Amino acid sequence: MMGKKKEKGTLIVLSGPSGVGKSTVIAELLSERKDIYFSVSFTTRQPRVGEEDGVNYNFVAREEFERMIANDELLEYAEYVHNYYGTSLRVIREKLDAGIDVLLDIEVQGAAKVRAKCADAVCIFIVPPSFEELSRRLHRRATDSEEVIQGRLQKAREEYREIPNYDYLVVNDKVSDAAAEIISILTAEGCRTKNRMNLVEGV
Ligand code: 5GP
Repeated sequence: MMGKKKEKGTLIVLSGPSGVGKSTVIAELLSERKDIYFSVSFTTRQPRVGEEDGVNYNFVAREEFERMIANDELLEYAEYVHNYYGTSLRVIREKLDAGIDVLLDIEVQGAAKVRAKCADAVCIFIVPPSFEELSRRLHRRATDSEEVIQGRLQKAREEYREIPNYDYLVVNDKVSDAAAEIISILTAEGCRTKNRMNLVEGV
């Protein structure tokens, strides 16, 4: 179909409990949909092995993060397990204004703030097939103590209470299926009349 490029990009919010496999699903999604811009968050937590500054996160000191909060530079931010995480307002605005879809991987408090500010955001929550499976996946990582794992499972239960506020629910049983479902959601969202008025003439 010929037509002008859409005027505004779609803001896509993805949340889900620790251990659900969100990063793997996102990697698969981005390899299929290269036109989506993944928002690299700012965080005060330490990089994990293999993580790169500017790629996985922008790693900053607490003072720098607090300066960004004071200067209103963040679309949203949250404190999660003793660290700050936040999304740069400037970068997101630039991309959306250029008609580029933007993907945010954020936890539930941040997602609530985004929903309050951007009514058009498409919010997707990813769950594991079951809590037993989530527990198995967290144990399989073998990097955390039993106490930390139990903490994450408890946090997951709290996060589940926010599910009704999301537009879509995706079960990550098989990564390729979960990514395919998200692609279908985004395809359908892209077909909404309000997102397609650039394709019709004379209105
Ligand atoms: P992790 O430390 O495991 O990378 O991330 C912990 C949690 O922080 C995840 O649920 C992730 O989605 C969330 N997170 C990552 N970036 C942001 C952000 O910019 N804002 C908010 N609110 N949460 C984020």
